[in-house]
Amino acid sequence: MGSGASREVAPTGIKDVCLNNAITQKYMGLNQHGKVQAEYVWIDSDYWDGQSFDLCCKTLTLPDVPLHLDDIPIWTYSGDDAKDIVIVPRRTYRDPFRPGDNVIVLADTYEEPSEDQTDHGKPTKFNTRAACERAMQEAEDIGEDPWFGFEQEYYLLDPKTKWPLGWPAGKYPDKETAFYCSVGSTKVIAREVIEAHYRACLYAGVMIGGINSEVAPAQWEFQVGPASGTQGADDLWMSRYILQRLCEEYGIGVTFDPKPVPKQAGIGCHTNYSNMATRSSPGGMDAIKRQCERLRQEHAKHIANYGIGNERRLTGKDDTAAMTDFSWGIGDRAASIRIGCKVAMRDCGYYEDRRPAANMDPYLVSKLLVETTLLRKES
Ligand code: ADP
Ligand code: MN
Ligand code: MN
Ligand code: MN
Ligand code: MN
Repeated sequence: MGSGASREVAPTGIKDVCLNNAITQKYMGLNQHGKVQAEYVWIDSDYWDGQSFDLCCKTLTLPDVPLHLDDIPIWTYSGDDAKDIVIVPRRTYRDPFRPGDNVIVLADTYEEPSEDQTDHGKPTKFNTRAACERAMQEAEDIGEDPWFGFEQEYYLLDPKTKWPLGWPAGKYPDKETAFYCSVGSTKVIAREVIEAHYRACLYAGVMIGGINSEVAPAQWEFQVGPASGTQGADDLWMSRYILQRLCEEYGIGVTFDPKPVPKQAGIGCHTNYSNMATRSSPGGMDAIKRQCERLRQEHAKHIANYGIGNERRLTGKDDTAAMTDFSWGIGDRAASIRIGCKVAMRDCGYYEDRRPAANMDPYLVSKLLVETTLLRKES
């Protein structure tokens, strides 16, 4: 998901040659006689370089409708060095692509256990969820309840030119036109895709909070949350999966690269965050300010985990703070951290970390926020 923008990828646009959705629909209505299709989704490397993240999936037939997570078996797939990787179910969703009792299973991955182990082995390199879950547990143990709300920005792409969908190849939209939250065929592209995604997320059980068109045609945003603990990150990954699957059907590309179009504003995934201390009244605003000062001390560590290629986006222009600077402010969209004016007025609530890039891993971002603001020993 990270470093893909500059590379040549496999052929796309095959579907207009040979695939016909009306035919597919004939078969999707056939009786499946009580069997359930479980689509396992997990995170692995995008490229063989093993540096960037992306989603994988494969399906297993279950004999019955699963009632609990335990009814869904642990499964395996083959990793790149001929060893099996163990995939462990963590959260289930209704499957919008196969309606009925079928499910999507969000899983995380482990190395194969040695013979004397009864449980699965060590988390794989791309299993950042395991450590995130531990941090959330530690926060809960000290009476905190961290909530996360993500604003996922993305671009829809023409799969042949890799340029934003509907833009003439290599050309830019009019600089004088306002596209943010815009309406109308001369400004908005592919709203039907966004509508389908929104409804599919609601159906699946993803905590999608809203959508809006962004600062250029074919750039969109959806919000996930606020959700407690790992659920926010789980739901964000699932919403990305649903978007990718949906865009397969439409034959449209999606990118989360921090700066997919040179000389245009980049795309981010602002992370809104709160905990018991910040939500409490009185005292919430003081807790927010204290937490911001801790975030200042760990700025470099956060930036290192906030998405590959984010240096192309965090330039100090287009409502971003420069990557080398840390700042927080009330109602300030040019700061690293923005505290909403309403939050400041109410004296408690949440704050917005504006640094994460659109391709960030929400498990890493959630974990770091909790560690820096709640779990770090006072130095
Ligand atoms: P912006 O003005 O930055 O565009 P949005 O309306 O797009 O803001 O997003 C606001 C985000 O804040 C949503 O993702 C929502 O889930 C999140 N949010 C709201 N309340 C809380 C809270 N108490 N804790 C964490 N996140 C929250
Ligand atoms: Mn095989
Ligand atoms: Mn927003
Ligand atoms: Mn936005
Ligand atoms: Mn925002």
